[in-house]
Amino acid sequence: MSILKKRLVSGIQPTGQMHLGNYLGAIQNWVDLQNKYESFLMIADLHSLTTLYEGTSSLKSNKMELALDLLASGIDPEKCCFYFQSDIKEHSELHLILSMLTPIPWLTRVPNYKGKIEELKEKNLDTYGFLGYPVLMAADILLYKAQTVPVGHDQIPHLELTREIARRFNHLYGDVFPIPEEILTKHPVVIGTDGKKMSKSYNNTIPINSSSEDITKLSMKMITDPNRIKRTDPGNPEICPVFSFQKIYNSPDRVQEIETLCKKGEIGCVQCKKEMGSLIGDSLSDFREKRSELKSNKKNVEEILRDGQLKAKKTASETMKEVKNALKL
Ligand code: SF4
Repeated sequence: MSILKKRLVSGIQPTGQMHLGNYLGAIQNWVDLQNKYESFLMIADLHSLTTLYEGTSSLKSNKMELALDLLASGIDPEKCCFYFQSDIKEHSELHLILSMLTPIPWLTRVPNYKGKIEELKEKNLDTYGFLGYPVLMAADILLYKAQTVPVGHDQIPHLELTREIARRFNHLYGDVFPIPEEILTKHPVVIGTDGKKMSKSYNNTIPINSSSEDITKLSMKMITDPNRIKRTDPGNPEICPVFSFQKIYNSPDRVQEIETLCKKGEIGCVQCKKEMGSLIGDSLSDFREKRSELKSNKKNVEEILRDGQLKAKKTASETMKEVKNALKL
């Protein structure tokens, strides 16, 4: 007897080149989860408009580049439903309906809201769309009646809001939506070259589609224990971003050795960074090969996305029928 898998939804915005933070923080997890859950994985292009609405000239190419990155990373269209969010009109339709029943204070109190406006001061994010971002996220999740959503710690308030919206809808119109649970990602925060969270907004990323040489160059820029001026100064690996990557990419024995050598001031940061850069570069060699194969047959990639669109559309339109019935529309 086959056991029905729980359903999962997740998305990533096409806001630029995919980087190690996306890859370690979300995508590796997707690759694993697609084996365990009935997965709907989308390129969330509508979401990217909330912050990039003033400059969309690269959006189309960013979407395709990201599709290549994800497929080359191991997203398998045989195991999951993989599609562009804007190809499914029901996301926008459900977003509109959910926005009718979402109180404004629920949105203004989301911690990331004011923080992000502050963080991206150079952009005008005082918009209706940006405030409603979590409602669009709720629509993305509820449209497929997801039971599980993989999230990092910083997205938990958004998911809690999705649950509140689902409960409110169910309370007003009858049970339509399951209440989704979170799965926390294994590497919630990946550190960028400047020591802050790796993010396109901070310009501190290591793009995964970089050559080994470029990865080594970026690794050499990475900050280390700031108290270590000379090679012989004893270091503190626990506060060093390079060491956080050593723990991911190096063997446990070597990590222990580096820790000891660093604390005794017996290994230079240049050597440590070079070693880390070359390990990261080597780990991405299969990815690069697969990506270039996919790139040489873009028609195949477009077909994968069209198939995903059809599968997603089927589930989305069934949910919207239920939603409209419940609302007596
Ligand atoms: Fe960081 Fe390595 Fe330098 Fe120690 S030796 S401070 S772990 S880069």
